[in-house]
Amino acid sequence: MKFTNKLLILSLISLLTYCSKSDSNDEDQIDNNSSTSISEVIDSNEESSSNSQETSESTTNNSNVVEEGVPEVFKKIYAASRIYLDGNNVVIEVDGAPDHKSPYYSRNHELYEPYNGSNTNFNQNPNSIKTFDFKFKIPLNPKEASSKVSTQLGSIGVSLNGVAFYNQYAGPNNQPLTNEINSFDQYAGHPQNQGVYHYHLEPTYLTSNKGQDALLGFLLDGFPVYGPFENNVKITNENLDEYHGHSHITPDYPDGIYHYHITDTDPYINGNGYYGSPGTVSQ
Ligand SMILES: [Zn+2]
Ligand SMILES: [Zn+2]
Repeated sequence: MKFTNKLLILSLISLLTYCSKSDSNDEDQIDNNSSTSISEVIDSNEESSSNSQETSESTTNNSNVVEEGVPEVFKKIYAASRIYLDGNNVVIEVDGAPDHKSPYYSRNHELYEPYNGSNTNFNQNPNSIKTFDFKFKIPLNPKEASSKVSTQLGSIGVSLNGVAFYNQYAGPNNQPLTNEINSFDQYAGHPQNQGVYHYHLEPTYLTSNKGQDALLGFLLDGFPVYGPFENNVKITNENLDEYHGHSHITPDYPDGIYHYHITDTDPYINGNGYYGSPGTVSQ
């Protein structure tokens, strides 16, 4: 009798666990869990015992990554390996690879996952994700530039998970993204031919984990990038200026700041160039 009760309770618990897992159709929740466990596995396998303590601390809390004098808001770039001041610039070091799954990881990578998005025209490009030693050097105190410059091809900013933002063009001479969009994976990113993974559109992994109105990263001019919602209202291109931003108070900037918003229509992240003077990115 006692044994049967125990068994009943055990199976009830496992049923509940199973249900809550299968009911929550929240793939980000699952991804989150699996990426945590993967980093734990990596920590314990690859690091010596003394280092493993440090590494696991830095994955849960990156306060030791963000050095003295760097504004608090930069702690949100959770994938950075180091963030520090260099004169009037903030330098953000990342490896550029996403912390979410992708069909662009090699098949034996922990984060490999075949395409499971909703685009029936998905067409995987031949590139695969590589890691780099990116240094994004951006102004500490961004200001409006007196003469604005266009965004270049390649990285125009960095998101919270260390992935680069790219502009609204697929190539030189303002080639539209139309065809490239079909190669975007289930998290709306893809690698270019050198293996640099990037987002031209809303990084859906970040907006579903951090919120539709969250700070998602920074462009090279040092101005922050926010998601497609604000105060529960969807932002459209009409709410933004020609550079794809506007100024007001945000939770991260109580004194107000110019900031970009990502919208679901072209030009998505940035419009006619940087609002401020862009810093640099090196690899
Ligand atoms: Zn691209
Ligand atoms: Zn805003």
